[in-house]
Amino acid sequence: MRKMTSTLLVTLLFCLSSHAALPFEQLLYKGRAVPFYNDSNSPEQQKYIDGIRGSQLAERMASLVSGSLMMKSDIGVGFESCGQVNAFFNPQRHAIVICSEFIDMMAKTAFNDKELMMKLPREQFGKVINGLIWGIFFHELAHAIIHTNSVPVTGREEDVADQFAVWFAVNFVDLNQTPIVLPTVWFWSRLAKERDIPSMTEQERRSFMSNEHSLDEQRIYNMACWDLGTGSDGGAKTAQYAGLPTERAQRCPGEYAQVDMGMKSHFKKYFKVRPLRGTW
Ligand SMILES: [Zn+2]
Repeated sequence: MRKMTSTLLVTLLFCLSSHAALPFEQLLYKGRAVPFYNDSNSPEQQKYIDGIRGSQLAERMASLVSGSLMMKSDIGVGFESCGQVNAFFNPQRHAIVICSEFIDMMAKTAFNDKELMMKLPREQFGKVINGLIWGIFFHELAHAIIHTNSVPVTGREEDVADQFAVWFAVNFVDLNQTPIVLPTVWFWSRLAKERDIPSMTEQERRSFMSNEHSLDEQRIYNMACWDLGTGSDGGAKTAQYAGLPTERAQRCPGEYAQVDMGMKSHFKKYFKVRPLRGTW
């Protein structure tokens, strides 16, 4: 009898230790992502919002989040006119907001790139813009997870968000062969090219240098390096496009391995799904 009891106890303990974590975690993390579109007074901005609404992009983003991640509370995912070029996670509203002005700027940046973007066939042009919007979204999603689930971050949260965006895009997302990191690198490269630091006023320069992000050029090389470090063909193309110097490129597999380890240590517990690629 005593033996039976102790066996039962051991079985119970074993069951508790191996299975209790998941249902308990799921009780805490009941948040869903809720898509939204807020209309604008500006007819020009409204055109973008209507176009995006027609493509159900916010719904697809929200469904990716709800299907793959555990969040402590609901988050909004959507598009609106903000009166400025931006995309952000707002902790007070619990919402990822992609401003229509940002989409407008992406389109204009693409139309101004006569050497590359305007030479692409229509379908590929669309894929670059699509991949870019998803890339920006994944960066904001990292902020949303960090703030909603209280993920500890030491160092620049903006760099962690870039790491998450690359890692998530490479391992978890399949948008019918639409690249995500390369379009993101293309976009930041174009912006960096158009920016002329010496011609900035003292105040512009101070605000540019003091903001939370690494400099665009550093973000470009970082993302290209991590993408290259995955060992994928896409990563090699991104590094080539970014002009990543050989001395940095040699260290990228090691850097990516560190990013992968960090992401698994801080974010893996919030995933309901396994990666499409990579180890888990
Ligand atoms: Zn950010």
